[in-house]
Amino acid sequence: MVYKTNDTLIQNDAEMQFYKSLISRLNMPLLYMKVNYPGKNKDNLLTNSIMQLMEEIITDIFGMHVKMRLFRITEDGPNVTLVIDKDAVDIKKTSILIENNHVLGRCIDIDVYDNFTGQAVCRKDFGLEQRTCFICGDNASNCLEAQRHSDDQIIRLIHEKYKEFTEDFYVKKLKR
Ligand SMILES: [Zn+2]
Repeated sequence: MVYKTNDTLIQNDAEMQFYKSLISRLNMPLLYMKVNYPGKNKDNLLTNSIMQLMEEIITDIFGMHVKMRLFRITEDGPNVTLVIDKDAVDIKKTSILIENNHVLGRCIDIDVYDNFTGQAVCRKDFGLEQRTCFICGDNASNCLEAQRHSDDQIIRLIHEKYKEFTEDFYVKKLKR
């Protein structure tokens, strides 16, 4: 299996070996998710809360297709791995919907690795535009490369989104 690591979330070789062995052992696609949190302090209360929430949401969506789940803390901060018994492209399509439409979707990154090709499924594989930046709306990778936004600015936005989500959640609960 050959992995192109340059355009995937998992950049660390040892980590990649770990995921590679999982995929080949279980022979199913793998979903990897982390918070899009800048800087060194990626393991904190905010990122852990967001990952726990998103893990629940995604596990609910894929239901019985989820064959294995892992919650880990690595250099990426808290992250979730799900092995899902479903077509990799379908998983990717669902994860794009979450990234685009969920309040917290803009704060997370999701990669889906295909067990047949061993590659991460890309948005452009099915004609979709690249992700847009959640601050200025330009192509997200341009902003990342040009370091257009400060860590503080990004972290503040993640805080706001989390607040928005939890307030909305409790309002709905009270109305019930
Ligand atoms: Zn931007």
